[in-house]
Amino acid sequence: MSLKGDLAQAYRDIGVKPIIAASGSTTAYGGSRLRPEVMDAMNRASNVMVEIDELNKAAGKVIAEITGAEAGFVSSGAAGGLVLQAAAVVAGSDPIKMSQLPNTEGLKNEIIIHRSHRFPYDQCYTSVGARLVEIGDGRRCQPWQLEAAFSGRTAAVAYLFSPFVSRRALPFPEVCEAAHARGVPVIVDAASFLPPRVNLRRFIDEGADMVIFSGGKAVRGPQGAGILAGRADLIEAAAANASPHQFIGRGMKVAKEEVIGLISALRIFVDEDEEAETEHYNEMCRQVVDALIELPGIRVTVEHDEYNYLVPHAMLKFTRDWKGPSRDEVLQALSEGDPQIFMHSLGNPDEMGVDPFNLNEEDLETVIRRLHEELVK
Ligand SMILES: *Cc1c(COP(=O)(O)O)cnc(C)c1O
Repeated sequence: MSLKGDLAQAYRDIGVKPIIAASGSTTAYGGSRLRPEVMDAMNRASNVMVEIDELNKAAGKVIAEITGAEAGFVSSGAAGGLVLQAAAVVAGSDPIKMSQLPNTEGLKNEIIIHRSHRFPYDQCYTSVGARLVEIGDGRRCQPWQLEAAFSGRTAAVAYLFSPFVSRRALPFPEVCEAAHARGVPVIVDAASFLPPRVNLRRFIDEGADMVIFSGGKAVRGPQGAGILAGRADLIEAAAANASPHQFIGRGMKVAKEEVIGLISALRIFVDEDEEAETEHYNEMCRQVVDALIELPGIRVTVEHDEYNYLVPHAMLKFTRDWKGPSRDEVLQALSEGDPQIFMHSLGNPDEMGVDPFNLNEEDLETVIRRLHEELVK
């Protein structure tokens, strides 16, 4: 039996088959591969009792050092971090206000957001009772539209950094300036905007009052952990609303060993050689290009940029000259094959790609073989 067969035994025991996730760190396909060193650290930490508030503060200090923020907190995924961002700006750390959530009567409860930044995770904001106030028309937004959106009930301005999101929102530093002129905090979702590792500091540098990153994506920490960084008073408020305290964040508990796991993963992540990592992904992508370049009507390229392809991807574009099965037919055939393969398909409807992030060499060979099989069918 291959090593992978052994590793997968616990899944097979209950009838679950391993898949190949060529889609990147997609939660629905397993997220990311936990670092073995992180599992070791978690294993040891799991049998030692500590006081959780003290642990959270200490972990927050490490996050603060790494991000350049005043403070930090380990949240339950980036999504849990969004809930805590909203709770912090709506209720602060006043127990009377915290205990009334998600009823926001009498509280500042409006979160301003670009219409082009509306995303499936914004329910994390409204789940604490906040109301989203949209600005812009989806295609663009003018400074006056932001100005006009502020009211006596504005709790924050939200800003999203994510692949395949419109770049036509007002520039981030401008949004920070307008918000800060009114004493309004800016809360940022940059969950999947790593690498590059410089992004860990970038949004804080540019004026973010709180920013979240996923701990279970590029960082390869515990899948259920998130990184919240920001202003000391807001992080204190986020922590007050979170477990172990019995307020709205209590349902998103982070275990002590997950806190240790996230911190150890984050430390390893920032020490890694990003250039070497990128070259490794590039090399994997070139294997895909080399294998498929001869197919007439399909353009295969390695894409890597600071917005949509944060790590190199091998992207296939189905041109008008393509005579074979459609992109969606190929995607479906791959996802129903053996093994099931899930491709990257967030971009244009005539494109799909291989994100090498979760693949080993054996997986990559399988992906290339199956892709070729389905394309020439
Ligand atoms: C992945 C993602 C999240 C959620 O992150 P988790 O760590 O899985 O909770 C939130 N926002 C955006 C933009 C994401 O890409």
